[in-house]
Amino acid sequence: MKRVEVFDVVIIGGGPAGCSAGAVLAEQGHRVVVLEREKFPRYHIGESMIPFTYQPLERIGMIPQLKSSAFTKKFSVQFVAPSGRASQPFYFFNRYDRETVAQSWQVLRSEFDQMMMDNTRSKGADVREEMEVVELLQEDGRHVGVVARDKAGEATEFRAPMTIDATGRDAIAATKKAWRRGDPKLNKVAVWTYYKGSKRDAGIDEGQTTVAFIPDKGWFWHIPQHGDMVSVGVVADGKYLARDGLKDPATIFHREVPNNLWIADRLATGTCTGEYWLTAEYTFRSEYCAADGLVLAGDAFGFLDPVFSSGMMLALKSGVLAADAVHEALEAGDFRSERFAAYGEVMREGMENMRKLVYAFYDPAVSFKAVAELDPAIADDLTDCLSGDVNKDFSRLFGAFAGITELPDKLPYGVPQPGRAPLVPA
Ligand SMILES: Cc1cc2nc3c(=O)[nH]c(=O)nc-3n(C[C@H](O)[C@H](O)[C@H](O)COP(=O)(O)OP(=O)(O)OC[C@H]3O[C@@H](n4cnc5c(N)ncnc54)[C@H](O)[C@@H]3O)c2cc1C
Repeated sequence: MKRVEVFDVVIIGGGPAGCSAGAVLAEQGHRVVVLEREKFPRYHIGESMIPFTYQPLERIGMIPQLKSSAFTKKFSVQFVAPSGRASQPFYFFNRYDRETVAQSWQVLRSEFDQMMMDNTRSKGADVREEMEVVELLQEDGRHVGVVARDKAGEATEFRAPMTIDATGRDAIAATKKAWRRGDPKLNKVAVWTYYKGSKRDAGIDEGQTTVAFIPDKGWFWHIPQHGDMVSVGVVADGKYLARDGLKDPATIFHREVPNNLWIADRLATGTCTGEYWLTAEYTFRSEYCAADGLVLAGDAFGFLDPVFSSGMMLALKSGVLAADAVHEALEAGDFRSERFAAYGEVMREGMENMRKLVYAFYDPAVSFKAVAELDPAIADDLTDCLSGDVNKDFSRLFGAFAGITELPDKLPYGVPQPGRAPLVPA
C-alpha cells in the first residue's frame, strides 16, 4: 500500500518558480506541499537578476532579506566589443526608482534558492526535499496530484485538486505529455566557469553585468558575485564552439577567452575554480500552459536564452501569477484548464516580446544603440523590455526594427490544453 497525503496544492520543484508560487498560496491559507528532488543548498545557474524581478520578490516578502544579504548589488549593464572597447554602462536609475526597481542583485543560486525555500516554509508551506516526483496522477482526464519517491525509494501519493509543475528545464509535464517544442532559430550552447580574484570595477560598477562579444559568433557573460567570485560563460552556436571536434568544456572555454580582450584582461589576474559546465539545447516551450488540475510555471513552461537574464524574472513572475490563478480556482472549486488562459497569455506575451529582442540581438546587422537613438520613446521601450517590464505594447519599438531585421512571429504555444473534465469534479 502506498502512503497517501492530501493537500490543496502540490507544487513540483522548489526553485524560484515553485517557491514563489508556494509562498503566495501558503500565505492565502491553502495547504501547500512543495516537492523538491534535491537537498538544498544545491548548485544552479541563473545568477543575474533584472530590475523587474523586484515586484514578485516584493510580493513574497523577499526584499528585506535581499537588502541585508551579501549578494552583490547590480545597478547597470554594459556591452563590450571584441576589441575590449566598453560601452557606457546603462544605469537602471536613469529610468527607474533608485530605492526599488533600479537596483537588483547578482546572486549565488545555492544561497538565493535556500533563502527562497526558507521563506516559503516560513509562510506555512510544507517543503519536502529529496522527494522526486515520478508520476502525474490523472483520474477521468483530470490531474489529481503526483507520486513521489524519497531517497530510500519509498513512494507516496500526494493528492490535491491542483498541481503546479515548476520543475525547471526537466519540465516533467511537458516531457511526459510530449508537449516539448523547440524554437526555429534559438538553440545555443553555453559553457561556463567561476574565477576568484579577477579584476573588478569599484563602487557602483562593481556588480554590473557585462555582455562581451566575440567576433560575429556569440558572447560572454561576466557576472561579479560576492566573495570576490565572478561567473563567466560563453554562449554561441554549438557548431562554432565545438569546431575542430572540441568536446571538453574547459578547452572550449579557454579557446574563446582571447576572442574578447576585455574578458582576457579581467580573467588574467584571477584563478579559475577549475569546474566547468556545458549546457546545450536549452531553448524550449511547452505547447500548453495548463490542463485540468495542472498549471506550468517558470522554465517548465518555457525558457528562451540566457542573453538578457530574463529567466529568473519570468520564473518568479509566473510563480506568483500561477499561484493567483490557482487561488481563484480553489476558491471557485473549478479546476478546468480554461481558467488558466489569462495566465498563459500574460506569460506568453512577455516571453514573445523578450524573444523578439533575443532574435534581434543575434542578428549581426542590428545595433540596439542605433535603434535607441532613433527616438527617446523608443529608447525607453527598449529599456523597459530589457529590464523585464515585458507586458506592454511594444509596437513602436518593434516597428523600429522593420527594415533592419526580421522579428519572429509568435509561436503558437502556451494556451491551456482544451479541457476534458466536468465543471464540478465528480
Ligand atoms: C546557461 C544559462 C545561464 C542563465 N543565466 C541566467 C541569468 O543570468 N539570469 C537569469 O535570470 N536567468 C538565467 N538563466 C535561467 C535560469 O536559470 C532559469 O530561468 C531559472 O532557474 C528558472 O527557475 P525555475 O524555478 O523555473 O526552475 P529551476 O530553477 O530549474 O528549479 C526547478 C527545481 O525543480 C526541481 N525538480 C526537477 N524535477 C523534479 C522532479 N521530478 N521532482 C521534484 N523536483 C524536481 C529541481 O531540482 C529544481 O530545484 C540561465 C539559464 C542558462 C541555461
